[in-house]
Amino acid sequence: MKLVVKYDGSSLSSAAKIRRGVATVSELARAKSSGPARRCDIVVVCSAIGSTTDSLIELIATAKKRKKAETRRRTQAIAEAHKKVARGVIIDANARFALLASLEEDCDELAKLADGISQLGDLTRRSTDYMLSFGERLSTKIFAHGLAAAGTVAEAFTGSEAGILTDSNFGEASPLMDTTRLRVTKTLRPHLARGAVPVIGGFAGADQHGHTTTFGRGGSDYTATIIASCMGADEVWMINDVGGLMSADPQIVRDAAPIPSVSYVEAMEMSMFGAKQLHPKTFEPLLSTDVSMTITRAAPEPSRGARTTQARHMDTRTATRVSTSSARTIKCASTLRHNALIDIRGGSMVGEPGTAARIFGVLADAGVNIMMISQNPSESSITIVVKKADLDRAIHTLEINLLGSIIKHIETVPNVAIVALIGAGMKGAIGVASRALGAVSKKRVNILMITQGSSELNLAFVVKESDSTTAVRALHSEFGLGGGSKKPRRPATRR
Ligand code: ASP
Ligand code: MG
Repeated sequence: MKLVVKYDGSSLSSAAKIRRGVATVSELARAKSSGPARRCDIVVVCSAIGSTTDSLIELIATAKKRKKAETRRRTQAIAEAHKKVARGVIIDANARFALLASLEEDCDELAKLADGISQLGDLTRRSTDYMLSFGERLSTKIFAHGLAAAGTVAEAFTGSEAGILTDSNFGEASPLMDTTRLRVTKTLRPHLARGAVPVIGGFAGADQHGHTTTFGRGGSDYTATIIASCMGADEVWMINDVGGLMSADPQIVRDAAPIPSVSYVEAMEMSMFGAKQLHPKTFEPLLSTDVSMTITRAAPEPSRGARTTQARHMDTRTATRVSTSSARTIKCASTLRHNALIDIRGGSMVGEPGTAARIFGVLADAGVNIMMISQNPSESSITIVVKKADLDRAIHTLEINLLGSIIKHIETVPNVAIVALIGAGMKGAIGVASRALGAVSKKRVNILMITQGSSELNLAFVVKESDSTTAVRALHSEFGLGGGSKKPRRPATRR
């Protein structure tokens, strides 16, 4: 059995929570040593503690503004918070001293870097990534020292030390999987063979020049699945403080319910939406594997008894199991706000090969990511959705490059939300779209654009942002996705 246990920042946000994580991993490691039949290789992946990454982002912004005193204050606050947690995790004086000394070294380096930036007011994407990686550097040390103090042999690694090689796209790096696979296997093998638990910092790796890179916010999820894919893990546990995936954002829909199981492709669709933002690339490394993932809260109190190892360590009431397949039901209704719609029109777009390529080409050159696309069969208009923050740049580049040639007219709706219904149950089912659109229109919500890919996993439409809550509630209730609902999730009619 090979297992990756990933702890989210929320599940490491206090000494007590870290001690619980340490107890869980130690118990799993002990089971491992109790006979070859139970052999289990465990790797831990840690996020930064609590909201440390946010604090680092604020620190970097302050340093860039050359506010020297405030920069120092912020670095000190990060250092103090970590030392406080460390003291709460480790009781033994000697072990504690060793950990504090090691944290101090990292915090000194962070302080020097921040100081340097506040002197110059100069910052590169490379130095930003390096500084952002400190959250995971500190948390893994605390977790690994905690394990050692509990009698479990452990070793802390940064993503780069573990062998994660990426391209040099700082802030949004991608792993170079072939080399990463070789390196990670080579690094971990001797440690696993001697029964140690590697504790790897999530979120970051390094490029070919050894410069630290990050995967973007939430990137520790991605680290966990990269490592799982490299070591051929059987299972990945994603431990957080809120539980598994939900049928809707509970802040929007009161009777939102936990989803017991989803497939990787469904989870991938969901990761783009909803309250719990998993890194969108999290599921990619596991798509063609039979690794199963559980997204869960830690069990309220690890109890012994006859329950399975999993049940003992997880809050199974809220857990979501992710694997290659799942029940063919509709799983959730979600919304994504802060977007803008652009309608592009022009008579000379009709029947002209390459028009779409040119439009998308100029937007890509301007660094604008397109989230939804729809073209009507008359080909006289293309409608796209972009992030609201990208709207001005998108319009500017379209006007400069294409207005007056292939484009005659551009219209925008600045505040829109994407609303989506997700689940494999829509595939081949008749009447889902009409029920969905009917439910929304009954609430007098106007739909501005509709898309459905031929995978039929996701029916998405665009509404005014102020209508998005109403639309999500309408869908959630129409398809009976809530906990107390009697309506079937599975559409009745099938082709
Ligand atoms: N610490 C990083 C963040 O807060 C990565 C992660 O937690 O997944 O985004
Ligand atoms: Mg996270």
